[in-house]
Amino acid sequence: MSEKKVRVRFAPSPTGPLHMGGVRTALFNYLFARHNNGEFLLRIEDTDQTRYVPGAEEYIVEALQWCGITIDEGATVGGEYGPYRQSERKPMYREYAEQLIASNNAYYAFDTSEELDAIRSKYEAEKKTFTYNHETRESLNNSLALSADEVKAKKDAGEAYVVRFKMPVGEELHLDDEIRGHVVFNTSALDDKVLFKSDGMPTYHLANVVDDYLMKISHVIRGEEWLPSMPLHVLLYRSFGWSEDMPKFAHLPLILKPVGKGKLSKRDGDKLGFPVFPLEWTDPKSNEISSGYREGGYFPEAFVNMLAFLGWNPGTEQEIFSMEELAQAFSLDRVGKSGSKFDPEKTKWYNRQYLVHKSDEEIGSLFAEQVLTAKGIEVNQDIVNRVCGMVKDRVDFISELWNQVNFFFEAPKEFEAKPVKKGWKEDTPALMTELIGILEGIEDFTSANTEEIVKEWITAKEIGFGKVMNPFRLAMVGAGKGPHMFDIIEILGKEETIARLNFAVANIKR
Ligand code: GLU
Repeated sequence: MSEKKVRVRFAPSPTGPLHMGGVRTALFNYLFARHNNGEFLLRIEDTDQTRYVPGAEEYIVEALQWCGITIDEGATVGGEYGPYRQSERKPMYREYAEQLIASNNAYYAFDTSEELDAIRSKYEAEKKTFTYNHETRESLNNSLALSADEVKAKKDAGEAYVVRFKMPVGEELHLDDEIRGHVVFNTSALDDKVLFKSDGMPTYHLANVVDDYLMKISHVIRGEEWLPSMPLHVLLYRSFGWSEDMPKFAHLPLILKPVGKGKLSKRDGDKLGFPVFPLEWTDPKSNEISSGYREGGYFPEAFVNMLAFLGWNPGTEQEIFSMEELAQAFSLDRVGKSGSKFDPEKTKWYNRQYLVHKSDEEIGSLFAEQVLTAKGIEVNQDIVNRVCGMVKDRVDFISELWNQVNFFFEAPKEFEAKPVKKGWKEDTPALMTELIGILEGIEDFTSANTEEIVKEWITAKEIGFGKVMNPFRLAMVGAGKGPHMFDIIEILGKEETIARLNFAVANIKR
């Protein structure tokens, strides 16, 4: 048998914004496809119309785009196996449900929700839980218990019904998962899931399996929460006679909370002080805003690199991977079984790595765009690039650059108390005035040249460097921080440097 072409799908339900666990599922599918020269599909699973949230599909598409996860086939890009939105495939599912009824793998169930509620209460009163399964189905309101004529009469009368899967009894299913290995399920423990609803829509299980088959999906890579559905899905393939074409299954480990136990949930994010969503999301009903990595100043490459390591590792020490490198290195056998703890600090660390490795030009233009423009500051872009380059290794985010470089764009009007107390002595004004004289005499105001001349002067005076350099820095920066002093004054220029020294001499009071 020839190897099947790799075709994988990401199949979110548009019930809200995609959280980072969902993005990771999409990413692993995408990397798997790239690694195997396969195709990556986006299928929108919107069969549950009661849970549909406007804007969610657009959000999903935009989030994938931001991450650099490109879709080969899907609702927004088309493809040979469309439509890729299940609501648009609605007419085709009924015949598959009927096919299962004809082969005695499914049955009509006419039980109304009132009837089922009443049975549930009866069970509860006896401290039991009701399950629609092989033990109960023969005594319920369905085509297994009713005669063919009764069923026909009910259907002809237009009674509402669902189609349920007739779960086999007492069968041990030995299944293989690409990540979890061998898994065994006993079918007697499983219930008779609804496959087709009274509103004429398939449920997730039916639509998912039918579409994976029709779209020629080779591998189903999805979150661990779907592992319990695997036996039903495998049985559906068998019931349809599609076992030969059944995809391989791979269930990804959970993403766990940074502290404590349990799975990272949509609600954890802002509560614990970090985003759980790739992009900011405003709930259309409550208008509540959930923060996003994009708006939080994360680079998509850093976010993706971090996500790749939630459950996967390359087996080497390398931690920084571009999307291309991830695609090259990725394989399902390096995905672990156990959940991985999400670490928001590590995510910042990734951002910092990407920030430091970007060119000064790139950092400078992002800084101008995101920070300077908003402050109405217009300066020569070369200077912006240079100053950003000087301090880029001190921050995690572009927005944090402002605190490091603000003094380049605004002369200090106030001076930090601590360095004033420590460094601005009685003889400092006289020293600074002398320094002004030295600087005035310098024609070539490059960093190397001013450094040489000023240092020569300090040495000749036989005083400590700190006695000059600390107040000098204070006058330029307004604080005791900042990059190399002579680089600073080269950028400020002679005139501005002297103006700041004069201002400091006139204004700093001990
Ligand atoms: N629609 C399901 C979800 O929202 C897809 C699960 C699967 O990949 O089979 O996660």
